[in-house]
Amino acid sequence: MLRYQEVATPEPGPGQVRVRVRAAGINHRDLWLRMGQLGAFSPGTIPGSDAAGEVDAVGPGVTNVEVKQRVVINPGLSCGHCLDCLRGDQVSCSQFRIYDGTYAEYAVVPATNVVPMPSGLTFAEAASIGIPFVTAEEYLTRANLVPGQTVLVWAATGGLGVATVELAKLRGARVIAVTRDSGKAERLRQELRADEVLLWDGSSDLTETIRNLTNGQGVDVAVDSLGSKTFSQSLAATRRGGAVVTVGSTTGGQVTLELGQLFRRRLTVFGAYMGSTAILPRLLSLFARGLLVPIIDHVYPLEQADQAHEQLERGDVFGKVILEV
Ligand SMILES: [Zn+2]
Repeated sequence: MLRYQEVATPEPGPGQVRVRVRAAGINHRDLWLRMGQLGAFSPGTIPGSDAAGEVDAVGPGVTNVEVKQRVVINPGLSCGHCLDCLRGDQVSCSQFRIYDGTYAEYAVVPATNVVPMPSGLTFAEAASIGIPFVTAEEYLTRANLVPGQTVLVWAATGGLGVATVELAKLRGARVIAVTRDSGKAERLRQELRADEVLLWDGSSDLTETIRNLTNGQGVDVAVDSLGSKTFSQSLAATRRGGAVVTVGSTTGGQVTLELGQLFRRRLTVFGAYMGSTAILPRLLSLFARGLLVPIIDHVYPLEQADQAHEQLERGDVFGKVILEV
């Protein structure tokens, strides 16, 4: 249950900064946290990972940011000195975790986890980028998506779906987007330039339709955030030698796998969870130049976080749901 209440203002320790949060982005992770599906948490845990705001205080030894500077929080936390961190692959760090605590007026994070916010973006827009765009950029890079290839995106109107469609188009790929909402299909075509939009009723098998759209071959990359209801279709609709990305399981996490599907057709299946630290500043510069566009469905005040969660749980979104603080 979410409860809106007063808590003590946190103080930044050595190497930390305190951010006066102005907007926080809602991710599915926040719902899982609230439902206890990320493991036990102590009472008083504050959800929320993505945020934008102003630096309000800095702890001892902080030299890379100044008070009043507008920043975006990068919620990926890692040790900073292991071999994975040093080669820039922080998500592989054994201590990697995602920060929780942005549904609040103040959030304290390591000074290395704030990135200057580009002018020209609102706080709500800047808070909409983090987890979905960083995650999508990381897996499209790992999948080696190159111009002219085709990518399949399930749940294309969600935060992660929108990020995947935008980044795949920016790479010159052809996008087959899937949505359950006919009203949103046109927006996928018009605003996000999806090449093909498939309406899915939540149960039918789209494999043949997808193969027909790809000369019988299948897509190069399938991005699956839905899990049990779609994963076998993702495998079947991916071409020989292609890649299937599993990045969520909102319809369930259990699947049946026929191994011949993988080895005979030389498929790569990999899991994705956030992305490395260097991605967010690069993406912010693309937003600043207008090459990527923030898509916000609805902005709620912080005290209505429960209503914002309900909207995301219904899956009735086109882009991000944001809390203004
Ligand atoms: Zn590390």
